[in-house]
Amino acid sequence: MRLFDLSGKVAVVTGGNGGIGLAMATGMAEAGAAILVAGRDAKKSAAAVRALKELGAEADQAEVDVSDAKACAALMQTAAKRFGRLDILVNNAGMSIRKRPETYTLEEWAKVMQTNLTSAFLCCQAAYPHMKKAGGGKIVNIGSMYSLFGAPLGAPYAASKGGIVQLTRSLAASWAKENIQVNAVLPGWIDTALTRQARIDIPELDARVHARTPAGRWGEPDDHKGVAVFLASAASDFVTGASIPVDGGYAISG
Ligand code: NDP
Repeated sequence: MRLFDLSGKVAVVTGGNGGIGLAMATGMAEAGAAILVAGRDAKKSAAAVRALKELGAEADQAEVDVSDAKACAALMQTAAKRFGRLDILVNNAGMSIRKRPETYTLEEWAKVMQTNLTSAFLCCQAAYPHMKKAGGGKIVNIGSMYSLFGAPLGAPYAASKGGIVQLTRSLAASWAKENIQVNAVLPGWIDTALTRQARIDIPELDARVHARTPAGRWGEPDDHKGVAVFLASAASDFVTGASIPVDGGYAISG
């Protein structure tokens, strides 16, 4: 369908080499976009690029640690140089350090904030001139259920993901006139490397997720393909500043 067609568009996906990021990259590649997969693990990125190319998409990888401020700016330049333009940015790279709030060191706090929130801001800043030049753009920031709820064992994670929602609204308000739409996706409990460890750390988590999620299951990375294509395409041209849960109803259930 033309409304969802991403042919000729170029997307950068941070953390696009696995989990939710790779699923979003795959959805956009299937809709016709060229993808630059950005991550630290070159082997994982190479496998992701191979899988995207097998779909017939143009794809390449960039080795980048998004907690390095200069690397974020360089990443957008790399995309523009490699593919000639930049239309879509998905700020998906993220991590957590699970512990009680009174035990975090400043370094641990800063690492989570830099990886999850500051990097998203810096990538958006660096993407802006390219999108302006292209006549518009699409930014998708990945939040969490912890954008909405408190995390007893993840204070910096929840602070960073709450910040993602406000960053999204602020950039959306600033850049709407330049035809740059900025939205957030708030995944529920999704079966990825990130939550596999949480399930080991918290034995009752699996039962809790099943009981609270109206859909009655964990989410899969592929559950994010559709929202990625929607928010990256002309189908969402009048949608900006929104935070869309992809959670099987978790956020609306008591
Ligand atoms: P994964 O651990 O599978 O993916 C995280 C990705 O982030 C990896 O591809 C990793 O790439 C990348 N990454 C982490 N740190 C850095 C860094 N400093 N620089 C560059 N890349 C980095 O987990 P998910 O797919 O689950 O997570 C994706 C996003 O979704 C995160 O923002 C997470 O907070 C969010 N989320 C996930 C939920 C879930 O239930 N799974 C729920 C809510 C939100 P590499 O290995 O190459 O460093």
